[in-house]
Amino acid sequence: MLNIVLFGPPGAGKGTQSENIVKKYELVHLSTGDLFRKHLGDGTPLGTLAQGYMDEGNLVPDEVVIKMVEDKIAEETGAKGFIFDGFPRTVPQAEALDGMLEKFSYSISKMLALEVSPNELRARLRSRGKTSGRVDDQDDAKIDNRINIYNEETTPVVDYYHKQNKFCSIDGVGSIATIFNAICKELDPFN
Ligand code: ADP
Repeated sequence: MLNIVLFGPPGAGKGTQSENIVKKYELVHLSTGDLFRKHLGDGTPLGTLAQGYMDEGNLVPDEVVIKMVEDKIAEETGAKGFIFDGFPRTVPQAEALDGMLEKFSYSISKMLALEVSPNELRARLRSRGKTSGRVDDQDDAKIDNRINIYNEETTPVVDYYHKQNKFCSIDGVGSIATIFNAICKELDPFN
């Protein structure tokens, strides 16, 4: 089973690369941002709870995210593997992910971190905000808040996977195909 954490700041291209990875390796795409947006669209209580955090660019509390991910993993019986996109975003989330995977006798194979400079991220998010309708991409203060939270709360996750020898850095600037090739080089040995 191939289980990947696709890691990187907001706007790094995780969604785009996930699509390619899912197609090639036939994995289940588990994006916590997408799941929250789906709940929001469906008007569920979880969506309403998450909305306040998301609109401001803050993190949804760990226990809420963790429960949602656990339910989703349990639903996907028979999966060939998972790609976790936008999760874990804190060290407690990373610990919880290891714990829940262990229950199913799964484990993380590799953590791929897409590296993009803050200025490039800001430009990408602003441009996405013009077409995506995402409130959190349309306001410079919200974009900066997300980048700051990423730097403070999310980057320690790198160390967590580094210690497990699972961390791998990928240059996130370049053509989609070039970046995807770099990702495949890392994942093919597991296939
Ligand atoms: P981006 O990568 O563009 O920041 P996502 O689509 O991954 O956006 O997530 C959108 C929002 O959903 C986040 O800003 C946050 O409010 C919430 N969210 C998504 N994943 C998590 C998570 N793992 N922990 C806490 N909040 C999350």
